[in-house]
Amino acid sequence: MTLDILVKNVALWGTEGLCDLGIANGRFASVNPNGVSSAAVLTLDAEGRMAVPGFVEPHIHLDKALISERAPVNRSGTLTEAIEILWELKRNYTVDEIADRAARVLAQALENGISRLRTHVDVDPIGGTRPAEGLIRARERFGDLIDIQIVAFPQEGIVKSPGTEALMREVMKLGVDVVGGMPFNEASPQDSRRHIEIVFDIARQFDADIDMHVDETDDPAARTLEVLAELTIANGWQGRVTAGHTCALASYPRDYADHVIGRLRQANVNMIANPATNLMLQGRLDDYPKRRGVTQVKELLAAGVNVACGQDCVHDTFYPFGQNDPLEIAFLLCHASQMSQPAEILTVMDMVTNNGAKALRVPDFRVAVGGVADLVVLDARDARGAFATRLPRRWVIRKGRLIAETQSETRRYFEMPAAAAT
Ligand SMILES: [Zn+2]
Repeated sequence: MTLDILVKNVALWGTEGLCDLGIANGRFASVNPNGVSSAAVLTLDAEGRMAVPGFVEPHIHLDKALISERAPVNRSGTLTEAIEILWELKRNYTVDEIADRAARVLAQALENGISRLRTHVDVDPIGGTRPAEGLIRARERFGDLIDIQIVAFPQEGIVKSPGTEALMREVMKLGVDVVGGMPFNEASPQDSRRHIEIVFDIARQFDADIDMHVDETDDPAARTLEVLAELTIANGWQGRVTAGHTCALASYPRDYADHVIGRLRQANVNMIANPATNLMLQGRLDDYPKRRGVTQVKELLAAGVNVACGQDCVHDTFYPFGQNDPLEIAFLLCHASQMSQPAEILTVMDMVTNNGAKALRVPDFRVAVGGVADLVVLDARDARGAFATRLPRRWVIRKGRLIAETQSETRRYFEMPAAAAT
């Protein structure tokens, strides 16, 4: 058989040594540690570079991405002001404009080797269904180049924002996949609980997974994460619920934090750390020592909870940077969560690949004969090298087709001191 693509001498993530991968008809035809002799239309020699089965971006906001190009500056640097600035902009949103901004960031995602992505989309009476329609349109443009899940995100609350619940049900009918939440943004703990109950009610109606923004605050009195775990078990939704941000967990006293982490494990809730935005926004009003707002990643992992990490914001009112590059977010997480030892660095690579796939419930996210041929060859030999340099991806293969390639940069020096002799 003639292969479409043969990738030689690749260090496959999660396995020892080098192997050759044969690809035909969009699927892996061979995975061989001893070399493949089949002919191929295209042969790529990875020369020992490392490859993953695509990156997974589990938490991004494509409807707000790049909005900073025309938004006022967030002068307080807080989450509250970031949300309030958007109100005026949202009144003038159009479906096409949202789709165009989202598409620019999705193109970046492809270049960076993201094969699966989950984006939240604001659902509230100000923007109505336009943001959701914009992201559905952007998703259509990309076809099967990237798998996109859209989450209905009631950022302005549900109980305190009349009309939002009906809009959430409406966008689910339009094609949104996952039910979101923002339970801390309610007037009382009772309303926060009601918010979560409504989310489960919508999820049951549409047989959908849930992915909430939970306690995105330094306030240790924020306790909606425990309620989410409790209601996950009560509704039998174990494994189908994800909690993002969870900054307050980083401010809890140890005994209560351990109690909540235990409940999350029982409820099999997936957790998403968002180091970029949380480092930027949380602890703003603290004097020193300042809280940094990144959830308890090591403690959650040690308890056996599935933890992934995501970009969250790209050039918006919350965060002025972001390239939608999982290597950049992984690099930030290593610092924010002090994951520096070899085994910890390997875990962080899992967080932007396998753990994200588990949260998004992607079936068969691995390189195996017969499986869909998604492969990203990094310009690095291991996870540490990939995080350290964050170089452009060497090759991105999606469903058996080569969709992006970066040649090593050619740089010429005309006058440089000689390296010291060794
Ligand atoms: Zn978010």
